[in-house]
Amino acid sequence: MPENNVELIFDAISENESFARMAASAFITRLDPTLEEMSDVKTAVSEAVTNCIVHGYEGKEGKINMKLSLKDNEVTIVIHDDGVGIENIRKAMEPLYTTKPEMERSGMGFSFMEAFMDDLLVKSDRNKGTTVIMKKVIGAENI
Ligand code: ATP
Ligand code: MG
Repeated sequence: MPENNVELIFDAISENESFARMAASAFITRLDPTLEEMSDVKTAVSEAVTNCIVHGYEGKEGKINMKLSLKDNEVTIVIHDDGVGIENIRKAMEPLYTTKPEMERSGMGFSFMEAFMDDLLVKSDRNKGTTVIMKKVIGAENI
């Protein structure tokens, strides 16, 4: 199958969380994913997009960029915001770590992304924004 690349730019508002989930699931349909794989990818995308809205832009206006690519049976999803950035990435990725406990955040977003995808990389610079790069092989059980 030929490689496929898609890039989407959308407003950082909660309505677009479901749009991003649906776009990602539509994008991987070609790989004939199981329901579990589909839900794993949707959850990971939701967590990353929610983080851009809630933490990156802190509810203020901004744009989220999502790049999707398929190569063989692996999907790569890159989600970027131009928000406040993360000071200590290692700490931010620890389970239960959150900087917004007052908003009833549980600090599990990165843990879910890590658990549901095969690979997770987070890049961030204070005031320059955050980029989350996730990869998952779809249909690994069938090989
Ligand atoms: P939950 O996802 O369970 O609702 P949470 O969002 O706080 O809680 P994580 O998604 O694991 O937990 O993120 C951990 C912390 O990393 C956040 O509290 C925040 O400080 C920081 N963070 C995550 N994504 C971003 C982002 N895009 N921009 C700035 N900070 C971020
Ligand atoms: Mg989160």
